[in-house]
Amino acid sequence: MLKELIQVDYPWLEDIWQQFSSQYLDAASPAHIPHAMLITGAAGVGKLALAVRITRGILCRQPSNEGNACGSCKACRMLAGGGHPDLVVLQNAEDSEQIKVDQIRELIHSMHLSAGMSGYRVALLKDAERMNTNAANALLKTLEEPGGRTLLMLCSSHPARLPATVRSRCQQLHVPLPAATLATRYLRSLDDYAAEDIQLALRLAGQAPLAAQQLLGSEELEIARNVQSQLDALALGQQVASDIAADWQERPPGDYWQWVLFWLHQGSSGQLDWPALSRISPRRQQDLYQHALRAWQRSGSGLRHDLQFQEWLLQWQSVAISAGRQ
Ligand SMILES: [Zn+2]
Repeated sequence: MLKELIQVDYPWLEDIWQQFSSQYLDAASPAHIPHAMLITGAAGVGKLALAVRITRGILCRQPSNEGNACGSCKACRMLAGGGHPDLVVLQNAEDSEQIKVDQIRELIHSMHLSAGMSGYRVALLKDAERMNTNAANALLKTLEEPGGRTLLMLCSSHPARLPATVRSRCQQLHVPLPAATLATRYLRSLDDYAAEDIQLALRLAGQAPLAAQQLLGSEELEIARNVQSQLDALALGQQVASDIAADWQERPPGDYWQWVLFWLHQGSSGQLDWPALSRISPRRQQDLYQHALRAWQRSGSGLRHDLQFQEWLLQWQSVAISAGRQ
């Protein structure tokens, strides 16, 4: 994880990096680096990559006057290799949704060791909102009495889920979503993706480039597109609801409901030009959305999914066809 992030400086993070480095890492800067920072922003916008870039600037032995890491000193080489004795990276364990108190205690312990190489110790907490109550309380003690040259960076896409006491003790740094042109240019530079795939991936990812990047290589994109074209085919009477319902048995039902809801929301909020939907009256669009939402919420229960799908698809078909006739 760390290794990959060291190799790239994402272009849309440049501005925020410049702001940070000129304030705290510039050789002429009098400002002290804060002890704790909370890096916020959408999932897949590059919060961790920014934290890693800050870490590189801090741990490098010969940074430039502007605070950029040299890339060749021992510290930089160790980071590029994936590890550095003065850096701890923490996230929830694979078998758990939560960051637990023992993990935080270990992190606090390592923060209080004297720094080995650089005079600084850095800890990165990925998805910090996953800390359970005990873990957050343990961390709070460290935030109240920070050690000497230490920097704790909490990354979170859902900062509101963190206790207010934790939030208020951190300097906040928000990573905004990049302009669509910048995100598109970046995704295009990765591979020979079709322009419409890039657009769809960005839309599905809420414009977050790294989340869109993940979608581009995945089956998800294919499913999302299929769901919409199947709904179009139904609206034109070219397909039968029961066939689609049967097709949607391939994966967990929530996988399909989420895309049904996504497309309905995109279309009805005007973010997407979707003729099959836009002909339908707002009230009926709302009915369709509510029906799909209820079905999605019930999809974990023992009800037969094919029947749930079929019922909704028939409603969609009859509403869309009659709207098309008007
Ligand atoms: Zn260096």
